[in-house]
Amino acid sequence: MKSFDYYQPTEIKFGSGRLKEVGQIVFKYGKNCLLVTVEPFPALEPVFERVKNYLKDAGVNVSHFTGTVPNPTTESITAGAKMAKDNNVDVVLGIGGGSSMDTAKAIAVEATHEGTAWDYIWSSDTQPQKEKTLPIIAVTTTSGTGSQVTQVAVLTNPAEKYKSAIFNPVIYPDVSIVDPELMATVPPHITASTGFDVFCHSFESMQNPGSSAYINMMAKEAISLVAKYLPAVVKDGSNKKAREALAWADTLGGLCIANAGVTLPHGMGMAIGGFYPKVMHGEALSVLYPEITRFTYKEAIPEFAAVGRIFNPALESVSDEKAAEKSCEEIDKLLKKIGMYFSLSDFEVKENQLDELAKQCMVLPDYQGNPRVPTLEDIRDILQSALKR
Ligand code: NAD
Repeated sequence: MKSFDYYQPTEIKFGSGRLKEVGQIVFKYGKNCLLVTVEPFPALEPVFERVKNYLKDAGVNVSHFTGTVPNPTTESITAGAKMAKDNNVDVVLGIGGGSSMDTAKAIAVEATHEGTAWDYIWSSDTQPQKEKTLPIIAVTTTSGTGSQVTQVAVLTNPAEKYKSAIFNPVIYPDVSIVDPELMATVPPHITASTGFDVFCHSFESMQNPGSSAYINMMAKEAISLVAKYLPAVVKDGSNKKAREALAWADTLGGLCIANAGVTLPHGMGMAIGGFYPKVMHGEALSVLYPEITRFTYKEAIPEFAAVGRIFNPALESVSDEKAAEKSCEEIDKLLKKIGMYFSLSDFEVKENQLDELAKQCMVLPDYQGNPRVPTLEDIRDILQSALKR
């Protein structure tokens, strides 16, 4: 059996209703807290108010930074880090989807380091930061990015049209609350987009050379939960059982990527997010999957066959090669069922932008972990056929 390491320092508090523990949890880490969220809006404002009350009751002072933006920018993080420093906070609490949790992580870095968070992104020619940051507490309200259990904070530098990430064990959240009740208000399209990200994390981590028996076990469970519950929860967001299953699948997917990493779709999806910041992360992934599965499956027959059979148990009776080939169609069917079967042209991507975009797809190293490693020409071809379908 292949040997492996597995590391996970985040304390996970999973279960419906557990948000009420946030005050006691934060208090253990400090009395001055920066609460990091998006601008309050009807679905989440009551959650933010409840959290402020829980913190107050626990004796924690709160400064509320509401400047998180989807696909967090360097500018928004600098504004949050300034607020953290001005208010002398000693713990950062991020509540929301991946954007809010990642903003909290990046603020925790920028508030304790020279320069800006962007100086500490993953890069082949610089060393990421080594020292500890402010303590980080994460509460996820989407299912999701898995950010509540990863050492990753994804940020975008709009000036460079570059979406990259801080990747360092010091930004694993100290504690994460995963309370599925908080996801009941996520609208159908965001449920679908974030839910597809869960599938991608799990499937890509199985294919990454960093995978292991442990990762495979968690990834297959997460994919089974996505297959069973994601279409149901997109149809009916109040389905409590399905929300719980998806929240658990999301957490499993996060545990997988933290230890094994992702592959080509995420590398290319990040490039799309940097070029077109209005495209949601899950949308960027879904638009690439039909091409990338077909590009890859022959080099990862066991993984594709296993996933095809999760979606369609009738594939148990065919060869692994056939099941792997058919898994591409099964993944397309999932995308269609959840309303995520898009073309790049749906997001106003133009053909004359594809050369530059293709080059950017090779900046992050994720493509190198793909079972079939693409050339620049392959990537350009994938983008070309994803342009219109
Ligand atoms: P998001 O955080 O941008 O949220 C999407 C939208 O949903 C926002 O408008 C938000 O306000 C809203 N929303 C969130 N929770 C809600 C709720 N309970 N009810 C109603 N609306 C709600 O989206 P996301 O997909 O969770 O995060 C995307 C970001 O996470 C991207 O930047 C992506 O690159 C990053 N990411 C990070 C990691 C990691 O490990 N750190 C992994 C994958 C992706």
